[in-house]
Amino acid sequence: MEFVQTIQETKNIIKEWEKSGFTIGLVPTMGFLHEGHESLIKKAASENDKVVVSIFVNPIQFGPTEDLDTYPRNLDRDKKVCENAGTNLIFNPAPEEMYFDNAVTSVTVGELTNGLCGSKRPIHFQGVCTVVSKLFNIVTPDKAYFGEKDAQQLAVIKRMVRDLNFDIDIIGCPIVREEDGLAKSSRNTYLSDSERKAALVLNESLKLAKKALENGEVHASKLTHVISEKINSEPLAKIDYIEIVDSIDLKPVCKISSSILVAIAVYIGKTRLIDNFTWNTNDNK
Ligand code: AMP
Repeated sequence: MEFVQTIQETKNIIKEWEKSGFTIGLVPTMGFLHEGHESLIKKAASENDKVVVSIFVNPIQFGPTEDLDTYPRNLDRDKKVCENAGTNLIFNPAPEEMYFDNAVTSVTVGELTNGLCGSKRPIHFQGVCTVVSKLFNIVTPDKAYFGEKDAQQLAVIKRMVRDLNFDIDIIGCPIVREEDGLAKSSRNTYLSDSERKAALVLNESLKLAKKALENGEVHASKLTHVISEKINSEPLAKIDYIEIVDSIDLKPVCKISSSILVAIAVYIGKTRLIDNFTWNTNDNK
């Protein structure tokens, strides 16, 4: 496994791989890797000749009051996880390597970024789309792997790839959870013991919504109510948003008739956690 911190070195290695006709899979991450990331890397390794994992805590996707400075990092551990999961190259640039001081170009995806996390984190998706576009140009992958955990991000990247004619397959990968149901996240490390227990309310509230759907509920407002009631029963939890949207264009739905995304963001103490599930009416008839 190669470990590279410059764009030029990465491009040189990619060029050699392309000469040999290798297919390339890219897994963009911010590091502090867990089994969720690992599942993306393993899938990439099973579908491509070479796997690149980028580890980059991207400053331009964090708002001024967010956790850029405290975001957890452990590069030595990440290297081991990457190696064991089948990575061929880690790209770990410094912010100065990724961004020119006087850069004035960014990538914005409209509409899809207006709701859900986009409405709460105004510059977030512009930062994500800009860095992912740059990674696509540097690594020129055949396929790129993203977790369904960040469902809005996945939908936004898919749309960006279509709109900007990137010749890259975007592969969504299922949410990996702890045994008790909490979605794995690098940010779970912020939680105290009591907060860790309280955080179960995210998945539990979603399970109640799923059950309501299975029992034939078709009104989004009812689902929202079921979820909010459960979350509000947990004293350490504070709802940031609960949204029921179309899973492709992310527009809010009132009556459930197609494929929907049920997505929530909840503060547990000071830590903001997200979770979601998708539901396809036709699959469940
Ligand atoms: P991050 O390092 O948080 O930016 O995440 C990098 C990639 O891993 C993103 O595509 C995430 O959606 C994905 N990811 C993070 N947590 C999980 C999880 N629990 N299950 C599946 N994918 C995940």
